[in-house]
Amino acid sequence: MNILDIIAKKRDKETLSKEEIEFFINGYVSKQIPDYQISSLLMAIYLNGLNMEETIYLTKAMLFSGDIVDLSNIQGLKADKHSTGGVGDKVTLLLAPIVSCFGIKMAKMSGRGLGHTGGTLDKLESIPGFSVSLSINEFIKQVNEIGLAVVGQTGNLVPADKLLYALRDVTATVSSIPLIASSIMSKKLASGTDIIILDVKVGNGAFMKTEADALKLAKTMVDIAHNFNKKCVAILTNMNEPLGYAVGNILEVKEAIDNLNGIYSKDLLEVTMKIASKILIEAGLFNTEKEANEAVYQKIESKEALNKLLEMVKYQGGDTSYIMNPNKFDDSLFHIEVKASKEGYIEKIDALEIGLSSMQLGAGRRVKTDLINPRVGVLLKKKQNDYVKTGDILAVLYADKEDLEIVNRVEEAFIIGIRKEDKLIISEVN
Ligand code: URA
Repeated sequence: MNILDIIAKKRDKETLSKEEIEFFINGYVSKQIPDYQISSLLMAIYLNGLNMEETIYLTKAMLFSGDIVDLSNIQGLKADKHSTGGVGDKVTLLLAPIVSCFGIKMAKMSGRGLGHTGGTLDKLESIPGFSVSLSINEFIKQVNEIGLAVVGQTGNLVPADKLLYALRDVTATVSSIPLIASSIMSKKLASGTDIIILDVKVGNGAFMKTEADALKLAKTMVDIAHNFNKKCVAILTNMNEPLGYAVGNILEVKEAIDNLNGIYSKDLLEVTMKIASKILIEAGLFNTEKEANEAVYQKIESKEALNKLLEMVKYQGGDTSYIMNPNKFDDSLFHIEVKASKEGYIEKIDALEIGLSSMQLGAGRRVKTDLINPRVGVLLKKKQNDYVKTGDILAVLYADKEDLEIVNRVEEAFIIGIRKEDKLIISEVN
């Protein structure tokens, strides 16, 4: 077999065989095929696509390029949730404790933030002492003992994705549906859970800008999971405005704790409930979303879910006094108010601009190696469809320095006009 023939085949819109796909993945991981040839093949895939069969072969070849986590030593059903990335998305911080209250094991490997999107690991690390670096044995032990753990990737999972993703990043080939689907699903499958719920974000703060593309990505990922005999549901959720009010690491942890204390952010609670109820139904614990939602609500109102979060923070070395009293988080910085310059309804809050502003304040990374500042970010005071008068506070910047450019940027992210009814939960794919 020859890499040149494989590139030419995809360039000419032909279908690649299982063997050809395995050949280029194995050849790339073992450094026998150079970057420039894989770059060319990625561009051919980007332009001409992969059919479902090729996408499954690619996922499988990537999955078997490294270790697969064996979670068989964890008793009971294991669930995982993946978000395709958004702004203010702190769902995992609520979801993991809620779901584990029902005896379903949340053995969760999360990621870090990049660009305008945040990452769960960075958020958790803003709790002093919290460690996300557990060995696989520590991870399994913790999940067996308390029902949940949220950690960074352990072991040598999917090395093919690390290489391919880095190459896609510098060759303008990231936004290809089969490449995104195989990248995400190879990692989800390698992390060994039984139930996978995918939160596919749609809108200007997300990878997928249109509902049609998001639906295509969701269907591709669900089909891949089913091909591997995993239970999987995808929901499409709106990312045209940030989720909840807080954007930035400590601010988001505080908001998650508030919600587990019954101080709810309506949209955040709705997405969390939807995902939790999907997991509970897939696990066979409830028949309807209504029943599942009522049970979830109970776990929050009774503080059982908050106590689960406390248990996890304690187990992973974090200072639990910050969970008991979130005001302890050091946010003694500049608090800069962003005010409305006219009256009307908030028609839209540009999620991408808020995410980029938060990154510019230091909460996110431009490149993977950037250090982040856990304390900074943007706290929204108004959401879509709220009515504001001139001079009302739209948002507060938590900053290290006064920066007029970011103040203007956040102000411009608020479009004041008419009421607009956007759907939060757009659809689902089973
Ligand atoms: N997230 C991933 O893990 N992979 C992609 O290709 C895109 C988003």
